[in-house]
This record gives sequence, structure tokens and C-alpha cells, in this order.
Amino acid sequence: MAALLISEAHMNAKRMKEILFLTALHTQKAFDVVNHSILLDKLFQKDIPPEIWETNNEMYNDLTSRVNWKGQHSNSFPVQQGVRPGGILSTHLYKIYIEDLLIQLEDSNIGLYLGTNYAGCSTCADDILLLSNSDEEMQVMLNVVDTYSKEHQYNIHPEKSVLIKQNENSTNSRKTSICSWSLGDRSVSETDKASHLGIIRSSKNENIINVKDRISLARRTTYLLMSTGALPTRTASVAVFSLLGALPIEAELHNRQLSLLHSILAPENQNLRDIFLPSIDELLAILPTKIKWKQTVRYAINTFWSNKFGSLSREKSTLIRLCTDTINIGEIRPVWKTATEIPGDTKKAITKARILTGTYRLQATKAKFNIGSTDPICPLCKLEEENFQHFLTRCPFLEGVRRTFYAPLKQAVIDKIGIDQWKTNFQNRETLTQLIVDCRKLVGSTLPNDSNFLNTVESISRNLCDKLHQQRLTQIIALSL
Ligand SMILES: [Zn+2]
Repeated sequence: MAALLISEAHMNAKRMKEILFLTALHTQKAFDVVNHSILLDKLFQKDIPPEIWETNNEMYNDLTSRVNWKGQHSNSFPVQQGVRPGGILSTHLYKIYIEDLLIQLEDSNIGLYLGTNYAGCSTCADDILLLSNSDEEMQVMLNVVDTYSKEHQYNIHPEKSVLIKQNENSTNSRKTSICSWSLGDRSVSETDKASHLGIIRSSKNENIINVKDRISLARRTTYLLMSTGALPTRTASVAVFSLLGALPIEAELHNRQLSLLHSILAPENQNLRDIFLPSIDELLAILPTKIKWKQTVRYAINTFWSNKFGSLSREKSTLIRLCTDTINIGEIRPVWKTATEIPGDTKKAITKARILTGTYRLQATKAKFNIGSTDPICPLCKLEEENFQHFLTRCPFLEGVRRTFYAPLKQAVIDKIGIDQWKTNFQNRETLTQLIVDCRKLVGSTLPNDSNFLNTVESISRNLCDKLHQQRLTQIIALSL
């Protein structure tokens, strides 16, 4: 999964004609430097059952070791770091040890997003890879990583940690302003090739390099097998299969088809039977043509899911401002559709979509969903709770940005519904917030159903949301320095 995300990010950068900055971090002796008291503290905060915590505490607290040399034993000495090599729990414990770093990066909204999904730090145990489309953001990520490693008493090897730029060309490289990156006071070197999770990531021809690598591995394996005495090619297949105890491909296909049949009939797949389709008996009696069947299935699935999405999103408090009347399967929502092919606009649409779906994290949302004690107050103005209404319409720290886009937005609406209607409806902050988040929810009650007009509002509010997001991030970084 971690490797797939990186390949997706690469494809995405190619399509958007943007540079993808990747930094592969090399943690020095990763598993050996896990500090026991920090680890036990983190485990404690995980709300795991007390007896499991107690077992871990027994395993790692007051641990001592001694050296066995030719039957003689040295004096014992305390061991205060390192998870047990080869232990089943060790990788899990290590993941808990560094999990907060990944959460911190995601919570600060720094790093790459694929659609609304965060993909800024693709990680498998100690193999961490930072991803971003922005050179400056990559430096901020490295700063976060450096601070975390110091707090957690481990070292990141600056010489072995490397940065790669993918999809760089003369046009997009002009937009970058940083040419060297650092981890604390040491610089991170730039290279054109690095390995992450056994896959080579490179600035150019990544696929060709990896395919060559795999072919060479396959060739080495084949030669190794051949040297043990391979059979001549004329040997009958049946003899080969019976010697190997293997089955032909056809049997493998049968195997899969029959397990699929079981999955379809299993009670946990009741959902599948809720989709309105003819029963198996009816199908056996009259089997439709493949084309006809595909059409029937597509229609039944689309109807089932658009109804289900509608009812699910009405239940979710985070989707309160999302207009759920216009969910049509196969039809892209205006938030994506109106974002043109211009790379910058797609990026803005991502921010907008995260606001629309409630996945954009403000202090109030963090406080609501976090187990810990997050302060819901706006970190910038400290005046009131930082919710979407505050962020989009009230926070005085973002007023400058807001004013720039507020005027054209107001004008577009007034041109359509008149000044009186504007005054009656949009003095209300909640209605104004709704206008910015998803204007389509106001169709019928306040706004006319005119798609050109609604798309204009969508595109102004997209720019507004993006600028507010950037401004908020800049101010938060400035305040934290
Ligand atoms: Zn504020």
C-alpha cells in the first residue's frame, strides 16, 4: 500500500505537470534506539487493556543484560532502549513509537494529498518517505521530522537520507525557490535514485529500472533452479504437474470462480442481495445476453448506491453543508468538474473538497474527534472556537484575504438575486458559510438553479478557500517559530 501510494503520487505529478519531491529518511539503528520510557508512556496513552500494558511494562521496564563469553558471564548492565530483535510485537511497538510523527504531519496539513486523501508520509515501519509537490513544504516537513527525532532521542542519518525530484522540467522548475534542503543543521543531499520498500525510486525511467531489476532477479532465480537439473522441454505437461504436485492454470481459475460463488452466497454479503436484481433461479431459467446483463447490473448498482450515499451523508454531522440532492453516480460533482485542467485549480479543488467533506482539520474538529485535550479555540486570533464559520467568515487574521474574494462573490450573487434578497438572506453567517462551502444546497430556497451562475460562485469560493488555507498555514508556521 505504501509503495502503491508513491506510484500514484508519481502518476498524479505527471498528469498535473508538477514536480514531486520525495525524501527517503534513513533512521539510524531504528529498532535499537526506541526509548523504553517514551514507548511505555505512548502505549499507556493508547488506551490499551491494562493487563497488556502491564505485560509490556514487565518486558521492558528495568531490563538488564549481560555478556556471555566462553562460559563466563559479565556483570549485568541496564538496557533502556531498543525493541527485541525478531519479536512479533517489535514492529508494532516501533510503529506506535513513530505514529505521532505521522499524525503531526497530517494534522498540520503539510505534505501531498491525492484527492482528499493524505499521502504525505508513506511509511512501512522504519521506512519513511516524505512526499510533497512543494519545495518549501518539504523543508517544513523535514523540520517537523527533525524536531520529533530529537524529542524521541533517535537519529536520522543525513547522509543516507536523500531527496529525489520526479517529473522536473524546465517549466515547473522555474516555480521552485529552494535548491538545498536540511535536516536540523545538516544538509540533505539530492540524488536521482533511492530504494524504498525494495522498489527503486528515481528521477527518470523509474519503470524501466525496476523492470530490469526484476528481470535480473528472475533470471538469477531461474539459473539457480536449472542448475539443480531441469527437465527437457519435451516432457509431457501432465508429468511436470504430477512431479511438482502443482495444478494447471485452468484449475486455478476454477478455484477462483468457485470461491467467488461462495462469496456471493455468503450471508455477510447480504448487501449484494439488497441490490434489486433478478434471483439466481430466474437467471438460470432465462440467462440475458452479456451486454443486457451489464446494463441491468450498472443501473441496479447506481440506483442502490446513490440512495445509500444520500441517506449516509444525511446522517453525518461533518457533511451537514454538503448538498446531497445532487449525488448521481457517474456524474462528477461541480467541485471537481468546474476545476479546469490547470494544475493550480485542481490543487485548489482539493482544499475545497476537504472543506466540503469536513475532512479539513480545524481546531474545533480536532477537539471533537481527538481523545486528548485539543483546544478548540482559533490558534490565530484566540477569540472563539475555530469552526468552519469562523475560518471562512469571521477570523480577523484572515480578513485581508477574505475581502479580495468576498467582493466578486457578493457581486455575482447580487447580479442574480438583487440587493434586497442579498441583504435579507446573507446577513446570516451560516447562510454565507453555506454559500462558500456548497452553494447548491441553497438552490430553491435562496438561489436560482442556474448552473452557469452556480459554477461562477463555485470557482470564486474555490479561490477564496485556497487562499484562506494558505494564509492560515503561513500564520500558524510564523506563530510556531
Ligand atoms: Zn481566528
